[in-house]
Amino acid sequence: MNGADRVDALLDDAACRLEAAGVINAAGEARMLLAHQLDCSPSRFRIWPEALVGDDDAETFRSLVAARAGGRPLAYITGEREFWSLPLKVTPDTLIPRPDTETLVEAALACPLPESARVLDVGTGSGAVALALARERPGWHITASETSSEALAVAATNARALGLDLACVEGNGLAPFEGEHWDLIVSNPPYIPEDDPHLSEGDLPYEPRGALAAGKDGLDVIRPLIAGAPAQLNPGGWLLLEHGYDQSATVAELLAEAGFRDCFMQRDLAGNPRVSGGRREE
Ligand code: GLN
Repeated sequence: MNGADRVDALLDDAACRLEAAGVINAAGEARMLLAHQLDCSPSRFRIWPEALVGDDDAETFRSLVAARAGGRPLAYITGEREFWSLPLKVTPDTLIPRPDTETLVEAALACPLPESARVLDVGTGSGAVALALARERPGWHITASETSSEALAVAATNARALGLDLACVEGNGLAPFEGEHWDLIVSNPPYIPEDDPHLSEGDLPYEPRGALAAGKDGLDVIRPLIAGAPAQLNPGGWLLLEHGYDQSATVAELLAEAGFRDCFMQRDLAGNPRVSGGRREE
């Protein structure tokens, strides 16, 4: 161990490397990576900046910083991401939950629904939306589905770790649920057009393509979901979807074509149209 392995020196060096690599919150991410390696809270580094870090930990930390500087998403390095104040495990098999998706949770919580509503989250990924709803509405019976068995296993692990009840079903879209009826169907489906340059930026190249992109106009998953939902909703039941910032007009048309009533759109924190929904007629 030597002077170079003080917490503050390690963090300064890491922040410089991350900043040089174009990481926006370089100092914050350096702290999160060191906290991950040392299994402690990042706030400890402010209180005790002169603490010494063992050689093995320091070396592993530098390799984590190198991976992040090379573009690997922070959430895949630490294996976790907070969503709706829930600490979630994430892996490269799952999309990294976005703050924008909390808009979908808020919209779902604002729907007038029975206390013991039957709720389906289509394409749950890490389980973020379903688990946020389970935390807020203990009386709801929530099912989460996923085409990726690997992602579904992550959702089930998150449910267990948080002590939340979630029925996990493997399958594509609404297909596994023929003949079943729900009071609420929510989904954050893939919705990015497959040739969108955004797919090669930031964290996206590392995320599962099937969780992000859906055909030429990004609507290949949303279209059948909207068309099929009325048959699987109880009368008066709601369908809520996340979508791209420029898809709300098309989604509104699709909802109207499928006979949805009381259609609405909600904006995300950045003010972009992000969530649309409607109600099956009574
Ligand atoms: N909103 C995400 C992004 O543009 C995409 C999430 C999704 O496709 N469901 O990065």
